Amino acid sequence: MSTLYEPTIFSKIIDREIPADIIYEDEKCIVIKDINPKARIHLLVIPKKAIPTLFNLKPEDKDLMGHMMLLLPQLAESQGLKGFRTQINTGEAGGQEVFHIHIHLLGN
Ligand code: ADP
Repeated sequence: MSTLYEPTIFSKIIDREIPADIIYEDEKCIVIKDINPKARIHLLVIPKKAIPTLFNLKPEDKDLMGHMMLLLPQLAESQGLKGFRTQINTGEAGGQEVFHIHIHLLGN
């Protein structure tokens, strides 16, 4: 259901084909703990719609992206964070390794 493009590891997590530590899910996105955390708290906010990179965003994705943005402070608070950093790696040249958009949420 979640893939228009080649399935990535994140599509497989969304489809429950491979396990992950899922801490939140709704109709639009899933939030997992990063398997290789770069901070005490390192979450990945992943849309269920498989969009490879920010370069592939369409105007119709505005609500989805806004939804994920609004989720960030809620997630941070639920993890007891007083502040946090976010990162979206975009394209190979931007350090992206998994070609399914995801927002890194990091905090200590
Ligand atoms: P980078 O690895 O440079 O941060 P990305 O922005 O594409 O590149 O991030 C992919 C992230 O997905 C990495 O932080 C990696 O640790 C994480 N990751 C990869 N596989 C899994 C998995 N099975 N479960 C949770 N996180 C994963």
